Amino acid sequence: MNWLIGFCIAGLIALLACRLRLLTAGGASAAVVVGTSVFGAGGVWSSLPMVGFFFTSSLLPRVLGRPHATEQRTAAQVLANGLAPTLCCWGAALLPAYAEAFWLGYLASVATATADTWATEFGVRFGNPVWHITTRRRIPAGESGGVSWQGTLAGAAGASLIALSGQPLIQAGEPIAHAAALGCMGMFLDSLLGATLQARYRCALCATLTERTVCCGAPTQRMGGLRGIDNNAVNALSTLATAAIGIGSAC
Ligand SMILES: [Zn+2]
Repeated sequence: MNWLIGFCIAGLIALLACRLRLLTAGGASAAVVVGTSVFGAGGVWSSLPMVGFFFTSSLLPRVLGRPHATEQRTAAQVLANGLAPTLCCWGAALLPAYAEAFWLGYLASVATATADTWATEFGVRFGNPVWHITTRRRIPAGESGGVSWQGTLAGAAGASLIALSGQPLIQAGEPIAHAAALGCMGMFLDSLLGATLQARYRCALCATLTERTVCCGAPTQRMGGLRGIDNNAVNALSTLATAAIGIGSAC
């Protein structure tokens, strides 16, 4: 029954998000899969953290006055942050004996996605100075692998908010501090992977360093990182890793 209700609610929210141009049609379809899984497995209580992530990450760019950053999210972007939480929900539903462990993994992955998004948005808006996480050189705000105090504090606040909103899901231990800490760890893992594995490109025509494979109408040259590892892949890796650590540490 929860799965049917979840499908209807997720469908309505996805439709609304499509109308508000927060999601593409593909992104909306992926969001329905994620939303149905989250509500189906745990009802209202498991949905709160995901709804918190979705609305804050969708609205932050507008609130902070970066309207150019509010591109509609594609299916790949939705699944980059939604795959790990969705797998955790399926785990909690299919293996009730380990539900608490899967809920911790769920909270850890949603906290990671939220921390990364908040850190990026606040870092780009207020981050000064921004350092590269591995070379420790000053870099322009918004580049992959950058960290700033402003962004880090915002990310930690986002992770804590998600952990707090998930309190009813877990009874044992100190899951809130645990999930918040895992979210902060995931945020640094995301920056680290963004600075090392993520493919970096340079446009031969305008000399801009970019994450895009095409600039000025021509293919860009790869300067470092692994081909095929883009920001979505980095987000997927960091959320899957923190989910796995969360599940493992609670088993
Ligand atoms: Zn260019």
